[in-house]
Amino acid sequence: MKKTVPFIFLFSILFLLSGCSFLDFSFSGKAETENTDSEALSSEEKESRDIFAMDTFMTVTAYGSMANEAVEKAEQEITRLDQLLSTGDETSEVYRINQEGGGTLSEDTALLTEYSLSLYESTGGAFDFAIYPLMKAWGFTDGNYQVPTEQTIAELLPLTDVSLVHYENASKELSFEREGMQIDFGGIAKGYTSDRIMELYRSLGVTSGLVNLGGNVQVLGTKPDGTLWNVAIRSPESSDEYLGILKASDCAVITSGGYERYFEQDGKTYHHILDPATGYPASSGLISVTIVSQKGILSDGLSTALLVMGKDHAVSYWKNHSDEFDAILETEDGTLYITSGIEDLFEVQGNRKTIIINTKE
Ligand code: ADP
Ligand code: MG
Repeated sequence: MKKTVPFIFLFSILFLLSGCSFLDFSFSGKAETENTDSEALSSEEKESRDIFAMDTFMTVTAYGSMANEAVEKAEQEITRLDQLLSTGDETSEVYRINQEGGGTLSEDTALLTEYSLSLYESTGGAFDFAIYPLMKAWGFTDGNYQVPTEQTIAELLPLTDVSLVHYENASKELSFEREGMQIDFGGIAKGYTSDRIMELYRSLGVTSGLVNLGGNVQVLGTKPDGTLWNVAIRSPESSDEYLGILKASDCAVITSGGYERYFEQDGKTYHHILDPATGYPASSGLISVTIVSQKGILSDGLSTALLVMGKDHAVSYWKNHSDEFDAILETEDGTLYITSGIEDLFEVQGNRKTIIINTKE
């Protein structure tokens, strides 16, 4: 049975609220950006638009005299990338590559492929963009959810091996070593899209704006009044609680968790982030991973990968890359692990056990 995920419900509430002028909200299942300082905003032109694309609800917002054009172009860019990267749309490039077992890539998919390959390497295989045959077997691609048999999983695992994806940088030629291999940029597509929108905003001279692509929040500059954006990180346990609020500027705040897309069978919950080592939904002990970095694609890719890795690996990965990103990790017992770079920017809500991670311990 198809489960209605809670964030869709919350989104619809926010759609209804969007006409409310004294509260400026952008919302998602995992993170929320909010600005209640209405006076500071009212002196600036603001344009905001809600879009449904990439299977999720999105909001793009820009401030200043170019705000209108900026959100118009942002919507066009979202539509373009959705059409290019959709795994299910028969006219998309990714669909064609998957049907034909490879091909010559366009600029965007070439970049996404190069990025996916480097994430695969750096995360020890936790980020696996060849995971698609397994995503299909679990029914996450079309909503016909089912737990595959052990035999099916054993048969498909050899097809999800990224070391069998061959890619030539110079010619942009992609090929698969085994028949039946297929790729899926779902783990980074929204982060890439929000990076593109930030670039687009900048090129138009916009200095203040934000996008919220289904939980992937990326902010440009500060709020128009010069103060930091507030990004709320949703709690996986409850849809009306937050893990906390992050003060942010010029960064992508992206959360992955098993609580957004999932189904239940025989009393067990199965979610959509798969562990490439087992073929089953990741059960690493982490239930929510938020990555804060300057790049959407990095925050998106790592939020998926660190959820697969589990806390100890995630912490050591961060220690080796602490100049690139910060993280908020939540383990099954509700403890929050916050990396030291955002310690002063993240305000934890409620009474939670909180542990700060430093590079030297
Ligand atoms: P969402 O896109 O739902 O916000 P994520 O960014 O974590 O969440 O991406 C999940 C998507 O990434 C899945 O829907 C699937 O397309 C893909 N995916 C699932 N498992 C992995 C994995 N181990 N590595 C890379 N991509 C994955
Ligand atoms: Mg991701």
